[in-house]
Amino acid sequence: MTRLAPSDVMQLRKDFPILDQEVNGHPLVYLDNAATSQKPRAVIDAITHHYERDNANIHRGVHTLAQRSTQGYEGARTKLARFLGATDSREIVFTRGTTEAINLVASAFGPTVLGAGDEILVSEMEHHSNIVPWQLLCERTGAKLVMAPMDDRGQIDMAAFRERLSARTKIVALVHVSNALGTINPIEELVELAHTAGAHTVIDGAQAAAHLAIDVAALGCDFYATSGHKMFGPTGIGALWARAELLEAMPPWQGGGEMILTVTFEGSEYNEIPHKFEAGTPNVAGAVGLGATVDYLETIGMERIAAWEHELLEHGTEVLSTIPEIRLIGTAEKKAGVLSFLVEGVHAHDVGTILDLEGIAVRTGHHCAQPVMDHFGVAATTRASLAFYNTKEELDALGAGLRKVLEVFA
Ligand code: PLP
Repeated sequence: MTRLAPSDVMQLRKDFPILDQEVNGHPLVYLDNAATSQKPRAVIDAITHHYERDNANIHRGVHTLAQRSTQGYEGARTKLARFLGATDSREIVFTRGTTEAINLVASAFGPTVLGAGDEILVSEMEHHSNIVPWQLLCERTGAKLVMAPMDDRGQIDMAAFRERLSARTKIVALVHVSNALGTINPIEELVELAHTAGAHTVIDGAQAAAHLAIDVAALGCDFYATSGHKMFGPTGIGALWARAELLEAMPPWQGGGEMILTVTFEGSEYNEIPHKFEAGTPNVAGAVGLGATVDYLETIGMERIAAWEHELLEHGTEVLSTIPEIRLIGTAEKKAGVLSFLVEGVHAHDVGTILDLEGIAVRTGHHCAQPVMDHFGVAATTRASLAFYNTKEELDALGAGLRKVLEVFA
């Protein structure tokens, strides 16, 4: 498999204006990509171009700008469908991001398949946005949330997962790549088990789409949620992919303009999918920016990105392993570029603050995955999360920064 060469990475870094700056007197080392990733010039320019030349409300206008704006928005839908391996762009519903996509499924689809006594199965490593919407659904319906545990490397315990699946399980909601641990879950296998038990499957792809080639058809799932800002696109835009027949059968989620065909005081007739789920004026510029992101990523190639990030992950793991005071949290066999760790005797918040003085941006805290922290008996970790524009030298700088942290607290 071809991978990006270090010289390619140096070239690609020039596409990201934000990376070329000093923070606290040091070259910026941005290792907080799981929280949000940086934006290439092509995406920034696409958004600027939209507002400078094309901006108008979409779908309803006959004038030229309305048509251009609509083309930009709908063109982005087609691009994203292709990027995720969907054959039908009607299967892409634009949302604010992963959180909204999961809430949409929980609110609109959930009550159609479950009731009191039924179960929703999630894993122990879920982000809060793949837990809380299901808890709200349980409160509404009397269904029960069931957790499938993970082992101490941060991998789903497959035997326990099988055990907790039953005829009562109506929805299985799982993260593709864990933001707190980096674990890449065996989604195809898990989806097959869930389907065999008669459940529908919802996959949280927030941390996957920027790092792996996604093919929803191959994964076999029913719903796939993702966020633009984690894949080098704008904030405030993301998508839910869902099989067309499920979207057709689902009631709308929010009511308003655009999601209807006709409205009278006696009742309303709903629009076709996906518009039935896009009430109100959407984030048009965000979608245009996301379309530009897809173009950008496709030019590089997701396989090459994944291969380089794997090499970076191995290097980063090696760097951390040379510091005896560091304990890595999340050592799954299949991992994406997340290094979550504890520094003996130093609170994660202090680690993050001292690294920032060195120009190194990492995230500290529970990473919106408190059950993961509970599993490992810790309140917080420090997390360095990678993107394809990171270099091995930056991971060496992280190692040097961590040695400074230890000196300060010696
Ligand atoms: N799921 C995972 C695994 C995440 O890492 C995140 C964000 O950190 C989310 C869901 C929520 O994404 P958003 O805040 O973009 O909706």
